[in-house]
Amino acid sequence: MAKLLNGKELAKIIYTEIKDESDFLKARNTVPTLGIIRVGNKEDDIAYERGILRNCEKVGIKCIVTELEDNISFENFVKALNVLNNDSKIHGILIFRPLPKHLSENKVKHLISPEKDIDCMNPLNLAKVFEGDLTGFAPCTPKAVMEMIKRYKIDLVGKKTVVIGRSMVVGKPLAMLLLKENATITICHSKTTNLSEVSKDADVLVAAIGKAKFVTEEFVKPGAIVIDVGINIDDEGKLCGDVDFEYVSKIASFITPVPGGVGSVTTAVLLNHVIKAAK
Ligand code: NAP
Repeated sequence: MAKLLNGKELAKIIYTEIKDESDFLKARNTVPTLGIIRVGNKEDDIAYERGILRNCEKVGIKCIVTELEDNISFENFVKALNVLNNDSKIHGILIFRPLPKHLSENKVKHLISPEKDIDCMNPLNLAKVFEGDLTGFAPCTPKAVMEMIKRYKIDLVGKKTVVIGRSMVVGKPLAMLLLKENATITICHSKTTNLSEVSKDADVLVAAIGKAKFVTEEFVKPGAIVIDVGINIDDEGKLCGDVDFEYVSKIASFITPVPGGVGSVTTAVLLNHVIKAAK
């Protein structure tokens, strides 16, 4: 039976560290502060915001929410963004996405200050990830995967590592972060032939597909480390990952659960970025 890579427990540890850091900064007259921009009142956004506010309060990060109307003009949106960009008391900015269509994300991403871009929206931060430069802000989910690997002392050097999924939010930047740690990377996607054969060769297998329980035991080498990024709803309406946990956990050496895995660490990473920006 695989050992659990427990995201919930890891997140608790990270939150304790963040609290210590924020106390340290406050003692030096810097209150780490996050500015959130929310356009409209989408239920998902409000639930996400509530979670962030709760966690910010726990760790001593101040959070200021800028609420904007759904039909705000691009010009006024940019004005609101620039208020946060230019306010030296705001250290990190998080824009809830997706934005309404008329607020082109392709334009907005260039306008968020790269030093405050804790969610890696600005291409300058993404470019750093691809250059192997860790001074910027990597996307939070790939960074959460790396945190789990690091904190559980999983050695990546030379390991055959397969990432299934090539999105710019997860798969591609994650492959670059793994490469930086000297793993040997294969990136798979929907056009990969013999996917199960390729993934069965992996010492470390990461699933970032978005298909409930897609990765069955036929995709996994016995003893492999399996990291599940997926967040899906199964046939019974329950939250589940891309990996068929029930069966794969019987043959893997380590596995992340869903819920309680990568997702739990992602918000902790986001708040850690606010501390990094404040420093
Ligand atoms: P995405 O943009 O839809 O990308 C999915 C990737 O999976 C694509 O590269 C796609 O290949 C590949 N894929 C789809 N079907 C496949 C198949 N049958 N065989 C092999 N590859 C296949 O999704 P995403 O944004 O990367 O998210 C992936 C999953 O992670 C989702 O479940 C999402 O909810 C979850 N997620 C979790 C967190 C977290 O904090 N834990 C954060 C973000 C996302 P093509 O490129 O060829 O289409």
